Amino acid sequence: LLDALADQAALAIERIQLVDDIDRAKLAAEADRLRSALLTSISHDLKTPLAAVLGASTTLRDYFASMSEEDRADLLSTVVDESERLNRFIANLLDMTRIESGAMEPNSALHDVGDIVGSALRRAAKILSHHRAQVNIPADLPTVSVDPVLFEQVLFNLLDNAAKYAPEGSTVEIKGWAGTGIGTGDVMVQVSDSGPGIPSDDLDRVFDSFYRVRKGDQVRAGTGLGLSICRGFVEAMGGTISAANRPDRSGAVFTISLPRPQEIANDITKLEDMT
Ligand code: ADP
Repeated sequence: LLDALADQAALAIERIQLVDDIDRAKLAAEADRLRSALLTSISHDLKTPLAAVLGASTTLRDYFASMSEEDRADLLSTVVDESERLNRFIANLLDMTRIESGAMEPNSALHDVGDIVGSALRRAAKILSHHRAQVNIPADLPTVSVDPVLFEQVLFNLLDNAAKYAPEGSTVEIKGWAGTGIGTGDVMVQVSDSGPGIPSDDLDRVFDSFYRVRKGDQVRAGTGLGLSICRGFVEAMGGTISAANRPDRSGAVFTISLPRPQEIANDITKLEDMT
């Protein structure tokens, strides 16, 4: 009997190894497929603006003398805009690699949320010029422990999306409030819009690199990296970010929860210990 059991066990182990090998082969094939989809997507995102720069600059070189002042200015604007787009995309890719390799080291210190929201709004002024921005950050909101450069980038990416996906003339709201929870993550900052919102199945997937909800979203000047960078940056600063919809699905809501300053958290723990 023991021999028979041992044989059966050996057979079962062999089968498990076989399944394991098949699974491993499947995983490797999936990884290969993802890698090549990623390369195709990156190449496309690099090629499109580069083709526009090449087209505009070649036309300028060949026809400069016979062109009107206005056409020259138009083509030069294309060169500048598309180069900026390339620049942004490459900066995003570099940020992504730094996040994924764990090399992101935030330079966190105590900062005023209102100040950083203000500078993100100034940077986004041009892209938000067809929307109304409504800011509601209480003056007595506790300072937060963040890297101001990273936090500004997170807010800028969210404002950029709101401007891209919500209709012109609509309101983009930025709200801040102090949560009541003990410990970290209790200063909340929220960016919401009145655009199409995000289907509930995609609410978490929008934070994946290169993920886009609608096919039509590909044609907009996006990289599919904005939100994954937001999540990478916020998590590197010890916070969290999540997506939701307004109750009636009339817009997207992004909520960031940031760590409260360590010394205040410590004071509260001390108070708790005393009681
Ligand atoms: P993209 O460069 O495509 O905007 P993101 O990572 O910033 O990349 O966003 C991923 C996807 O999430 C977008 O392509 C879009 O489908 C969806 N999305 C992001 N922000 C919003 C928003 N405010 N309203 C509706 N959909 C959004």
